[in-house]
Amino acid sequence: MDLVKHEHDVLVVGAGGSGLRASMGLSQSDLSVACISKVFPTRSHTVAAQGGISGALGNMGEDDWRWHMYDTVKGSDWLGDQDSIEYMCKNAVESIIELEHYGVPFSRTEEGKIYQRPFGGMTTEYGKGIAQRTCAAADRTGHAILHTLYTQSLKNEVDFFIEYFVIDLLFEDGKCVGVLAWCLEDGKIHLFQSHMVILATGGYGRAYLSSTSAHTCTGDGNAMVLRANLPLQDMEFIQFHPTGIYGAGCLITEGARGEGGYLTNSDGERFMPKYAPNAKDLASRDVVSRAIQMEVNAGRGVGAEKDHAHLHLEHLGHETINERLPGIAETAQIFAGVDVTKEPIPIIPTVHYNMGGTPTNYNTEVLNTENSVVEGLMAIGEGACVSVHGANRLGSNSLLDLIVFGRSAADRAIEVLKDKPKSHPNITSSSIDKIISRFETIKNANGDINPSEIRDTMQRTMQRYAPVYRDQETMNKGIEIMKGLFRDFENIKLSDSSMIWNTDLAETLELNNLLYQSLATLYSASERKETRGAHARDDFPERDDENWLKHSLVSVTDDGEPTYNYKDVVLETLTDEMETVALKARTY
Ligand SMILES: Cc1cc2nc3c(=O)[nH]c(=O)nc-3n(C[C@H](O)[C@H](O)[C@H](O)COP(=O)(O)OP(=O)(O)OC[C@H]3O[C@@H](n4cnc5c(N)ncnc54)[C@H](O)[C@@H]3O)c2cc1C
Repeated sequence: MDLVKHEHDVLVVGAGGSGLRASMGLSQSDLSVACISKVFPTRSHTVAAQGGISGALGNMGEDDWRWHMYDTVKGSDWLGDQDSIEYMCKNAVESIIELEHYGVPFSRTEEGKIYQRPFGGMTTEYGKGIAQRTCAAADRTGHAILHTLYTQSLKNEVDFFIEYFVIDLLFEDGKCVGVLAWCLEDGKIHLFQSHMVILATGGYGRAYLSSTSAHTCTGDGNAMVLRANLPLQDMEFIQFHPTGIYGAGCLITEGARGEGGYLTNSDGERFMPKYAPNAKDLASRDVVSRAIQMEVNAGRGVGAEKDHAHLHLEHLGHETINERLPGIAETAQIFAGVDVTKEPIPIIPTVHYNMGGTPTNYNTEVLNTENSVVEGLMAIGEGACVSVHGANRLGSNSLLDLIVFGRSAADRAIEVLKDKPKSHPNITSSSIDKIISRFETIKNANGDINPSEIRDTMQRTMQRYAPVYRDQETMNKGIEIMKGLFRDFENIKLSDSSMIWNTDLAETLELNNLLYQSLATLYSASERKETRGAHARDDFPERDDENWLKHSLVSVTDDGEPTYNYKDVVLETLTDEMETVALKARTY
């Protein structure tokens, strides 16, 4: 097969918030950088982020990055790495001001400062008060950030390869040396060689049936990592957002509760104070999701099926809704037929975020099972597990993660490539052939199962067998079904074997990627015999620090079999200054 060849110093795969921030940083150095994306950059899922980005700016009351760190460690249910968390919270303010200077149109206070709203789990004075820490551009913060970063990237002349689907990573002697990508427009396979690949391919929410993520959120980079015999970390931790629109899955931001919205059950009772007397409706996401599920289980769900809850915004009035939550009013109207100024929105916990992903250190370098750096490979964004979110992410900490670690990836790559080699290594045909052969097999598959059947069963299986509450029996059943689907994939049939704009093929490659990650999630979840953060087990209802204060690492072979490893959580902070804070969080 003829390959179209490209050479760059650094390749960024993904043009969401994290990929664009890294590309921008790199474009200001003398390295040549290419950014590859399967969708047009401003269609990346980051565009859908509503609520905001956290940072202890203290614009609306006293704040301190140490309090932010404390909340994040606690929110992570002690599974977050404290060096990474310290790095993120400390660098938050500077990174957000930088965004402001790039042109992000944040909402403003009367004095013209960046407006900040309260968000779940964000407190002052180590848990005493409620912090207003989440910077927002109305309820379209991700949109504002992504468009600004894209414009800045164009200004800095980042070399974009748009609507190129990266198939797999290329390795020579254990070092990542580039990627193979399929250009949807010219239908050719392109060989991109580089000294560093930065994966920024986002989460894999689409493994589930009800998800707030875009259809393109298939975690392709994570599956490439698995196929390279590298592990994924903490894949059992899937965040359910308490307020997805019932039936449609679209997100109603936590910002809606930040502005004063509250939940009720079929008795019209405001039930959150029962479960979280202090934080009430602004308790962290796992707490609120579980509370809704418990109300439903107790027969107090709303609707004909008694299987969901109500979110009220009516009391906030037209003015606040128009100014602070205009997008929410529109989404509720379109997807639930509800006028939020008059009636409550029907909501249900919906898959929203993947805490797990490709393991990295706080410099964003990818780590292998032995915890050493994989040369030539970095990962950032939702697909990475730098482990700032641990077992549960706090709302508005992801946009921050993208920006802080996107920036840090650029800085680190520049540092590592100070004495970059003059040329790119020869790539042996066997590594290329293996990737092409998998691609061709899928493209020309002529079995008797339609991939859409496998996708549907996979999504229903994840929804049912890796849900909010889990137990051994359900997960074992899930593994059995998922392994069957993994095998069924060998027997698929594609209706189109052309190379140009073959969306059937693109979706089937994505499906294959989702199958790998669904298995990884089920495997990790069935092994972790405790309840922690988003991983809630009926059969092991307590957190078990003695046996499980550790990260799970799971690899999945091409036959769908697992290998398990574990590694310590980093409980040491970067500086002595933080020791007491970390200690406070640990003994809280
Ligand atoms: C509805 C919604 C609302 C949210 N609201 C908030 C919020 O208010 N605050 C907050 O902090 N977080 C929020 N989050 C979470 C946050 O938005 C995401 O975690 C984050 O945007 C992910 O960014 P990313 O850079 O990792 O990837 P994404 O933005 O998902 O982008 C992935 C990129 O990778 C590219 N890509 C993927 N696979 C391939 C491939 N095979 N080949 C080439 N390119 C590829 C895509 O084209 C895309 O450019 C929200 C998430 C959702 C779904």
